[in-house]
Amino acid sequence: MSGFASAARAGLDDPQLRRNLRQATTTIRAKRDAAVAEVDDWEGLRTAGAAIKDAALLALDAHLERLEANVVAAGGQVHWARDAGEANAIVTALVRATGADEVVKVKSMATEEIGLNAALAAAGIAAYETDLAELIVQLGDDRPSHILVPAIHRSREDIRALFERELGETGLSTDPAELAGVARRHLRERFLRVRVGVSGANFAVAETGAICVVESEGNGRMCTTLPDTLITVMGIEKVVPRWEDLGAMLQLLPRSSTGERMNPYTSLWTGVTPGDGPQAFHLVLLDNGRTTALADAIGRQALRCIRCSACLNVCPVYERAGGHAYDATYAGPIGAILSPLIDGFERHATLPSASTLCGACYEVCPVKIDIPSVLIHLRGRVAREHGAPPSERAAMRAMARVLGTRRKYELAQRALRTAGRPLSRDGRLERRLPGPLKPWTTFRDLPAPPEQTFREWWRSR
Ligand code: SF4
Repeated sequence: MSGFASAARAGLDDPQLRRNLRQATTTIRAKRDAAVAEVDDWEGLRTAGAAIKDAALLALDAHLERLEANVVAAGGQVHWARDAGEANAIVTALVRATGADEVVKVKSMATEEIGLNAALAAAGIAAYETDLAELIVQLGDDRPSHILVPAIHRSREDIRALFERELGETGLSTDPAELAGVARRHLRERFLRVRVGVSGANFAVAETGAICVVESEGNGRMCTTLPDTLITVMGIEKVVPRWEDLGAMLQLLPRSSTGERMNPYTSLWTGVTPGDGPQAFHLVLLDNGRTTALADAIGRQALRCIRCSACLNVCPVYERAGGHAYDATYAGPIGAILSPLIDGFERHATLPSASTLCGACYEVCPVKIDIPSVLIHLRGRVAREHGAPPSERAAMRAMARVLGTRRKYELAQRALRTAGRPLSRDGRLERRLPGPLKPWTTFRDLPAPPEQTFREWWRSR
């Protein structure tokens, strides 16, 4: 057992974690379903969302250059980063140039992906997470386990204990409003003091140079308006061609993620505005494996992802194994395809198998990413490019021989019937067959081999 399977064991052995996940994902799922049901033509909206993202990806270079020109024309600066190392070096140099040794951060998967906080810390710069869940993760020296709710694995009791330990509070209850109040007081002073903000981006409009960040707590608005300098790290796939494209995206994202009609805070800015907001704006365009993913004709649809997390909330594997089992920035179904595509198969070869292929992720995805098909495609790539395990190769070779001719197939059926009889009881094969079949049969009910095959029955009529 290795990779995802062994990492998932910790989650499966933790009933409290599974209870937290089930409760949280069930609640979010219900809210999402109700919000989606209100839209007359949700399917049409999904199709439009997929088309917008595909249009952006088909001419990504042209849209990015147009975005760059418009950001620069509006007084911003654009930096291109091929990988995490380059992006971290750019952001570190930009912060240093301001003379600051601390930054406030908006929740951002891109900065999580490149390990920006650790890189800044190594350069003597403190990064303060300001999203409540990210703050909980940071104070607990923990890792996020969900795209939207990074501390989903934490209970209220955990958070109360954490705040008492790390923030010097005493006598706290587990009331969410009280705990949020503690975080608010802790963060307020930093919002007002720190002169550099760092954000990700949900969307960037090539046509105008506008950057868009959506969030629920107002911390993003604080970080993008109060500092003197704003640095945005954005995956290159976040660009959309036209301003009007936001019309579809800003309906799809909140309904799919938090189950809201619109996000409580939608911040949009274009370059800098004299006398209003940050007076220096830097946009760091991050590749970090995205152009490699773009070269995969089937896998590239993963780059449509708008990080809503709806696929995580419906995934039976995610709900039981938890986000840490994926050992990657992106967990759940999207993580199972995106991580190998952008970060390579060496580290993530087992992730495409972390799925039952039930298809629930595809049904909820607001930009119609066919995750099951990409999973199957990536399983094929793992086997072809990195070699399947010897037992699987032997099984496939044997299967190819058996299915090669009708005579061999019928002989195999007869042999299986003879071998299966002593292992059958009440029409079912005994669970836990011996040898290499044991893991396969431990959790599966298999019917006993029938007395007659279909062909035998047909011939005997
Ligand atoms: S793959 Fe689809 S459902 Fe999953 S996070 Fe991305 S956009 Fe949302």
